[in-house]
Amino acid sequence: MSKRPRVGVLALQGDVREHARVLADLGADVDLVRRPTELADVHGLVIPGGESSVIDKLSRAFGMQGPIREAIAAGMPVYGTCAGLILLADRITDGIEGQETFGGLDVTVQRNAFGGQVESFETDLDVPLLGDPPVHAVFIRAPLVLTVGAGVETVASLDDGRVVAVRHGTLLGTSFHPEVTGERRFHEVFLDTVRAA
Ligand code: GLN
Repeated sequence: MSKRPRVGVLALQGDVREHARVLADLGADVDLVRRPTELADVHGLVIPGGESSVIDKLSRAFGMQGPIREAIAAGMPVYGTCAGLILLADRITDGIEGQETFGGLDVTVQRNAFGGQVESFETDLDVPLLGDPPVHAVFIRAPLVLTVGAGVETVASLDDGRVVAVRHGTLLGTSFHPEVTGERRFHEVFLDTVRAA
């Protein structure tokens, strides 16, 4: 593949533009993906933050659930932030009735895990995968990773040990939103995975 990877942002709902901007700034060709034919044209996919139950419903309405599951099973690199992490999880808690995920990441993710007490907050995270400086992480009605299956790498945790970023093979998920703070290193890791895939 050329040095300019062609990647998609799932554009059913959520902060699609923010991701598209970061990826374009990093030199990728970026497609907004709503249909199976558009998915077939890209070599990696970002699932944005937003509302996971809405993205789930729309993905089924647009005939995208099956193709995305197949692409994940075939090894397509996918990066999910917040709602996107929920959609990558094999198991979720506190979903709405009937809520489904694409799955692929062997983790259990709790939706709206900080609801009530602190819905949104910001903190600095040490992320060994990215080195210095720490990541300034913005959590917006964020999910938490409750359990991590064998082979899943914990990429970042809060000070109390709760897991907020994971990676397994070609899949990467963060509870927080690098795309809103100018943090580009997670997208760089994603694009490196796309180039290597
Ligand atoms: N609470 C949202 C959900 O359940 C996620 C919020 C976000 O993506 N910032 O999908």
